[in-house]
Amino acid sequence: MASKDTILIFEAHSDDAVIGMAGMILNIKEIKDIVLITCTIGDTGYSNEEEKTTIVEKRRKESLESDLLLGIKEHIFLDNPCQNLQNDLKNYHQVIEIIRKYRPSQIFTHKSPSKHRDHRNCHDLVTEAWWKASENILPELGDPIRVPILYTFEVTDLFEFPHSIVDIGDITPKLEVLRKFESQMGVLPGIENFVEGLALVRGFQGGFTYGEAFQKSDFMATPIRFAKKT
Ligand SMILES: [Zn+2]
Repeated sequence: MASKDTILIFEAHSDDAVIGMAGMILNIKEIKDIVLITCTIGDTGYSNEEEKTTIVEKRRKESLESDLLLGIKEHIFLDNPCQNLQNDLKNYHQVIEIIRKYRPSQIFTHKSPSKHRDHRNCHDLVTEAWWKASENILPELGDPIRVPILYTFEVTDLFEFPHSIVDIGDITPKLEVLRKFESQMGVLPGIENFVEGLALVRGFQGGFTYGEAFQKSDFMATPIRFAKKT
């Protein structure tokens, strides 16, 4: 289970992490364990009335199929209502508990600012919990851990000056994963072109063909360690 190679990815909706970072997940071999946490059930993500009663189940199924392609073995669904993810004490404590339980080497979540309220609240919950998980407080939520890095990814709101670009190689496998979210193709028409176009832009900025952009959070300071004079 938890190891030094575990990374936690917190997303608001079931396709966000795929849009933001599937290329990296598919290409980084040294990451052994990825735990994906989806904060909402996706109940408002339907584009025709007939899907209204089946959309939650459908999106869950799409998500699990996507996990198979990405090699994600553990997926936690927090089951908050869509467009109503709250930055409240319950969710905040739940995120602290997850961070302390899995003790990851890196955390990924949504960038800020974002127009979507669920993306914003997911970002705010996770970044604050990242810091609070490091403090010697709330022992009932687990042993404190200072996770060294939190990166943010972009979905449809974009970074102006991203810190980091990852070479994702070929775009085809990422698009194959994206197509698993069939129910969202009507909600986000043209999303496949958007994802490919953005990957070309980010690739150009990084000196590759296709890329993905990330921003290192400065919400918590990064300690600088060096050998001291004796
Ligand atoms: Zn989303």
